[in-house]
Amino acid sequence: MAEVLVLVDHAGGKVRKSTAELLTLARRLGEPSAVHIGPGAETAQVTLAKYGAAKVYVYDAPDALEYLVAPQAEILASLVERTSPVAVLIPSNAAGKEIAARLAIRTESGLITDAVDVRAGGEGVETTQSVFAGSYSVTSTITKGSAIVAVKPNSAPIEASPAAGTIEKVELTLSDAAKAVRVVESSPKAATGRPELTEAAIVVSGGRGTGGDFGPVEAFADSLGAAVGASRAAVDAGWYPHSNQVGQTGKQVSPQLYVAAGISGAIQHRAGMQTSKTIVAVNKDEEAPIFELVDFGVVGDLFTVLPQATEAVKKA
Ligand code: FAD
Repeated sequence: MAEVLVLVDHAGGKVRKSTAELLTLARRLGEPSAVHIGPGAETAQVTLAKYGAAKVYVYDAPDALEYLVAPQAEILASLVERTSPVAVLIPSNAAGKEIAARLAIRTESGLITDAVDVRAGGEGVETTQSVFAGSYSVTSTITKGSAIVAVKPNSAPIEASPAAGTIEKVELTLSDAAKAVRVVESSPKAATGRPELTEAAIVVSGGRGTGGDFGPVEAFADSLGAAVGASRAAVDAGWYPHSNQVGQTGKQVSPQLYVAAGISGAIQHRAGMQTSKTIVAVNKDEEAPIFELVDFGVVGDLFTVLPQATEAVKKA
């Protein structure tokens, strides 16, 4: 069966949810092999095997993550040359898109970024992209080389399919070109104790309706063990960090439960959350467009509704 390479998105061996999604998609095209760059492969292997990675290629030399993304593209290119995979799936985040572009050039392969679906087509690997804030779907077929596809997180359901998950070390000396930009310092954000936005099962978001006071939003989120999101209006006003923005120019989330408080439901916000399984809105305007897509809507003031809901959750 044709091999499909999946670039593992991990933090020191803790595999992110997007990798399980990519492995699930990869099984539609052939036999998935994971590519783990950096430390922690032994820990990651357990998760990767659970989602069908028959093999895990590991590059864990000390220089693995010492430079910006170029080494990752070089390592993937050497594997593409060796294994001629039918496709290489990469998470479509800022780093992933750069790696995908560099890899496509090095391997003279077709490239699609921001895909939301991938499948085998008659002439090659077929992809779907969702564009213009979800109002159009574009179907494309990659016909040249190993299809390089960067897939948006939260696009595919995750299905387990246990595999052997044997480890194979990648021996490679990085070129000088790959080492052109060295990371001097990287300092993690102060921990909030809340789950990561794109990984969370529950997201509670606040918008302009908070008037800059995210206290009730955060308290409700904490009562549910949820991540906190924000609309662009709230981010642009400087009330919440851009890293928490949900939407077309923010993050795409697809949690089990999404709560929008004081958010009108503009198309650009919907583009980041409309695939959530259950959507709840709290808005004092009963005509707010967000009510068109909710499963449950509360017409009311968030400063009254959220504290009551928080108390109710705490008592439950
Ligand atoms: P508003 O539209 O002002 O809505 C505030 C809502 O709060 C209203 O419905 C009001 O009734 C309600 N409200 C007020 N007070 C209360 C209260 N006390 N209790 C309950 N409800 C209350 N937006 C995003 O969110 N994410 C994006 O990624 C994004 N990308 C964009 C990209 C482009 C190219 C463009 C042009 C726009 C983008 N936007 C994005 C902006 C988007 O168009 C909207 O302007 C934005 O989403 C509005 O944010 P909001 O709903 O918080 O504010």
